[in-house]
Amino acid sequence: MQHSTTAYDHLWLHHTRMSSFADAPVPTIVRGEGTDIYDDQGKRYVDGLAGLFVVQAGHGRAELAETAYKQAQDLAYFPVWSYAHPKAVELAERLAHHAPGDLNKVFFTTGGGEAVETAWKLAKQYFKIVGKPTKHKVISRTLAYHGAPHGALAITGLPAMKAPFEPLVPGAHKVPNTNIYRAPIHGDDPEAFGRWAADQIEQQILFEGPDTVAAVFLEPVQNAGGCITPPPGYFQRVREICDRYDVLLVSDEVICAFGRLGTMFACDKFGYVPDIITCAKGMTSGYSPIGAAIISDRIAEPFYKGDNTFLHGYTFAGHPVSAAVALANLDLFERDGLNQHVLDNEGAFRKTLEKLYDLPIVGDVRGNGFFYGIELVKDQATRGTFTREENDRILHGFLSKALYENGLYCRADNRGNPVIQLSPPLISDQSTFDEIEQILRGTLAEAWTKI
Ligand code: PLP
Repeated sequence: MQHSTTAYDHLWLHHTRMSSFADAPVPTIVRGEGTDIYDDQGKRYVDGLAGLFVVQAGHGRAELAETAYKQAQDLAYFPVWSYAHPKAVELAERLAHHAPGDLNKVFFTTGGGEAVETAWKLAKQYFKIVGKPTKHKVISRTLAYHGAPHGALAITGLPAMKAPFEPLVPGAHKVPNTNIYRAPIHGDDPEAFGRWAADQIEQQILFEGPDTVAAVFLEPVQNAGGCITPPPGYFQRVREICDRYDVLLVSDEVICAFGRLGTMFACDKFGYVPDIITCAKGMTSGYSPIGAAIISDRIAEPFYKGDNTFLHGYTFAGHPVSAAVALANLDLFERDGLNQHVLDNEGAFRKTLEKLYDLPIVGDVRGNGFFYGIELVKDQATRGTFTREENDRILHGFLSKALYENGLYCRADNRGNPVIQLSPPLISDQSTFDEIEQILRGTLAEAWTKI
């Protein structure tokens, strides 16, 4: 246990109640291979979350490690501040090639929150340059997570996560998300619900005044709240609304890009073209950190004129090692047909998880691609949910730990209603799905006995 004691003493874990490790070892993962991870005792777990929605190509890919090694020897570091390096140029070109429409300008960051921060700052400055200086506000959805920096956290729709840091950046407003299982209206009519949900964005723009709103930030499938998918027609209507009021549509694809839904960019899966895509996580399959905001030529154009400058940047953005690894990762996507693999197997993943409906605690199985949430309920018929005490006792006190002990690393989340979130590496197949289902089945059945 020497590792774990040291972890508690010095390693401040993110989003973690540290006191829970005062008398318990910190789980310590030392190795990964394919869809599996191993702890410091040699025990194997299924990586049901691809690390943190990151390890698309699976663990232990020697070619990605070798690419990093080689790039560090050639050019370990150079910034993208007034200078270029070949891997950043090549990766920017590659991302522009995959991105839809005229999204051709790539502004690198080191992660997702910075990409979101970049998109908001860019939207604000864009409108100042084009003579609409009062357009600065943003709209996003309840429960959505968009990152930890002050701006990205203001866009985040989780009041409890924001409260310790208020006041955040002003001007970030919220509209309902598209969880049809909890729809306040049109719950039995997805099209009508989608229209209603999109129209809430228009209402919010009108409430605030179109002259004050710069951008709408939406995930293609919303992670927090449990893999909330868009109803049919939702994004098409949002696009129309954004165009009507000259508001930028930002597709926050920090989780959904790079094959999570079976396409390189998730907006393609749902048939819309945003003004900016924010992405990170899966771009390198986690073998090195990087993020990006991918911006349309239309929005970039005024920045490319005269003395206009986007006064924004990060030391490690577009890092040569990360850029090289991202290129190798995208090569691997093509060679192994990872996107097609997800498209071919997403139905099987859903079907396998839907078997769990025979457990009374399973209320809703929802998601897209290899990105699924299972909402837990106290009563399937009424969709009745848990009290706060039950949530604490069952989700925090039992489920998270029990799933892990039973060999499944995934996430039990109760930022909205309680959900189990699954996002396995994109190389997963039926045997991985079956193992996930079996562990969930046993653990959820036991959780039910503790209510
Ligand atoms: N945006 C979305 C949709 C996310 O899911 C996340 C992280 O999970 C972020 C932004 C923040 O990314 P990062 O943790 O890389 O800063």
